[in-house]
Amino acid sequence: MAQQSNFDEIYSFLNEKFENESEYLQAVHEVLEDIIPIYNANSDYKAFDIVRRLCLPERIIYFTVSWMNSSGEIEVNQGWRVQHNSAMGPYKGGLRFHPTVNLSVLKFLAFEQCFKNALTGLPMGGGKGGSDFDPKGRSDRDIMLFCQSFMRELQRHIGANTDVPAGDINVGAREIGYLYGEYRRLNNRFEGVLTGKGLEFGGSYVRTEATGFGLIYFLQAVCQHQNTQIDGKTIVVSGAGNVALHAALKAVEKGGKVVTLSNSRGLLYNASGLTDTAIKWAIENRSSSGNILEEMAKDDMGTWEENKTPWHIECDIALPCATQNELGEKDARTLLNNGCRMVLEGANMPCTNKAQAMFIDEKITYVPGKASNAGGVALSGLEMGQNAMFNQREASVLDEQLYTIMANIHERCVSEGKIESGFVNYMKGANIASFRRLADAMVAQGV
Ligand code: GLU
Repeated sequence: MAQQSNFDEIYSFLNEKFENESEYLQAVHEVLEDIIPIYNANSDYKAFDIVRRLCLPERIIYFTVSWMNSSGEIEVNQGWRVQHNSAMGPYKGGLRFHPTVNLSVLKFLAFEQCFKNALTGLPMGGGKGGSDFDPKGRSDRDIMLFCQSFMRELQRHIGANTDVPAGDINVGAREIGYLYGEYRRLNNRFEGVLTGKGLEFGGSYVRTEATGFGLIYFLQAVCQHQNTQIDGKTIVVSGAGNVALHAALKAVEKGGKVVTLSNSRGLLYNASGLTDTAIKWAIENRSSSGNILEEMAKDDMGTWEENKTPWHIECDIALPCATQNELGEKDARTLLNNGCRMVLEGANMPCTNKAQAMFIDEKITYVPGKASNAGGVALSGLEMGQNAMFNQREASVLDEQLYTIMANIHERCVSEGKIESGFVNYMKGANIASFRRLADAMVAQGV
């Protein structure tokens, strides 16, 4: 007889096996609560034990990256690729280089990525990878040497129709360029094996901006649904990376007042709102500066608050765009007390389970990253399509496609997440809409 799974059974099964992997268990918990009722109501899903299979990665690749830095010293790092689920297409998801990277973090990210990718409507499975390598303060040459060594092992596990990595924290155009060069040299193949490439070698217009711009397109859809607009709203943004800066830029373009940016060292605050010139300057100069926000403060673009996060600043809308678990219970309480009515995640899982629950209980708009930050991977999907056809589409066409994809994800969340009195539980909507797609693809393909 088929195994019958339910929330307790599956969660305790995973808990026992992976009790030290807190981020992974957190991400699974967040999804299971919403999808178990759907699972229980579908005999095919149950017969194929879909939920348990969907929670476990299909394959995990671990390798040691031993490399010689530019001073001739040997360094040793850990590398992983988590190939979570390929029922909907090649594994797809970014690479993260950060000292906090470990298997639990990558398993949570790979798991989330499957649901996010399913929401885009494009044929992509889910995966994630990276290394505990810390690129902070490293020379360009060291970055290149590390990327080449990392790719020497990774290359045998990926391919344009197998697994297509991209960037994530600390992996941007420069790193993708080095990684791609090494793949091409070793395989003698020019193929769309990575996304986020340079425009000269198979990259796509709008890929760089897509996660941040997509977040604001989702916000526009939310505002439209609530008969309001971004214009005139006060917005706090955390982070100062690619996602945060492009979200801030697009928000300002739509008339929003973006009053903060932040990094691991503190907060840049500007009560009258950052200008688009200031944000563009940060985008251009961020990779050449140790602390771009402090420099902006020195240049009168705001004040620098050491060791502060943005959540105590009064706002209508909060956009956490830095990293996982950056916004906890206390922060959520402060935001709610200060009148914040919308929280849309630009990062992956920036709100803790408790913070999410508080937003939903208080019936403010809370949108999980798997829906609101899907613009990045969506544009990656469009880059894969362009590579397969050996063409390059215009920026304006791609920007419009991005807008449409985000508006469609919004619709999917609303149709599955609308509950009494018109309130939309976007988390539930996103989890259920993506689960149905994944589950149907898995059932159709048997075991
Ligand atoms: N790292 C991004 C994400 O979290 C993009 C992944 C991709 O483009 O494959 O969705």
